[in-house]
Amino acid sequence: IVEAVDVHKSFGSLDVLKGINLAVSKGEVVCLLGPSGSGKSTFLRCINHLERMTRGRIFVDSRLIGYHERGDALYEMSSKDLAAQRRDIGMVFQRFNLFAHQDVLTNISQPPILNRGTPRAEALDRARELLKMVDLEGRGSAYPYQLSGGQQQRVAIARALAMNPKLMLFDEPTSALDPELVGEVLNVMRKLAADGMTMIVVTHELSFAREVADRIIFMDQGVVVEEGPARELLDNPRQQRTQAFLRRMH
Ligand code: ATP
Ligand code: MG
Repeated sequence: IVEAVDVHKSFGSLDVLKGINLAVSKGEVVCLLGPSGSGKSTFLRCINHLERMTRGRIFVDSRLIGYHERGDALYEMSSKDLAAQRRDIGMVFQRFNLFAHQDVLTNISQPPILNRGTPRAEALDRARELLKMVDLEGRGSAYPYQLSGGQQQRVAIARALAMNPKLMLFDEPTSALDPELVGEVLNVMRKLAADGMTMIVVTHELSFAREVADRIIFMDQGVVVEEGPARELLDNPRQQRTQAFLRRMH
């Protein structure tokens, strides 16, 4: 469902991504590991065109992201077309990006009402269902500031899911949380994976990666150094850079 071909990204003279290739099938869970500054966030942001690639192509569900292709040339997409593409891609960041002045139910139900034209009653029903899914049944009238970080992050996940995305991107969803709150967020992600959601997850949670990921990609300095089935890569890394990284994580 995702195909990234030779993705390059530079910021000025800084080459952050140097030809990333990645294919993810429907229902697959892929964890992205790598040291700070290796380009993990930049790559995720390229997938929904929050960042413009310098070279390469990314397809989600067979559609070229961010551009129209005519012959050999690429043309930047209108913001309307881009918004339509982004509806199918949910993203959850390190910092829970909820609307502070809206209660939980509104946070979750608003995006499909505004962007998909979902009738209000239907969106509210679905929001309540999602709240149950993220173990926050009955908390719909709470405001973000009344919730813990872990609860806010679970609302952020529910909000992304409310759009019925085909793909979910997670960028270190638990690294801003107090340790005791990490588990509840990972549980929700585990559930989502078991439900068959296609997910790309940047994380430092190796035990989560081991248990939930079908595949792990190890990135360093803008290239994929190594990839493989989760257990294989964690227990028997072949590349020296992967070995060194994993040693530092323990
Ligand atoms: P971390 O684990 O710390 O989140 P990362 O692997 O996600 O790291 P990126 O955030 O993708 O790394 O950053 C990769 C490199 O690109 C870094 O050197 C960073 O400073 C640089 N970079 C990222 N965004 C920008 C930007 N908007 N302008 C200039 N440089 C940037
Ligand atoms: Mg990052």
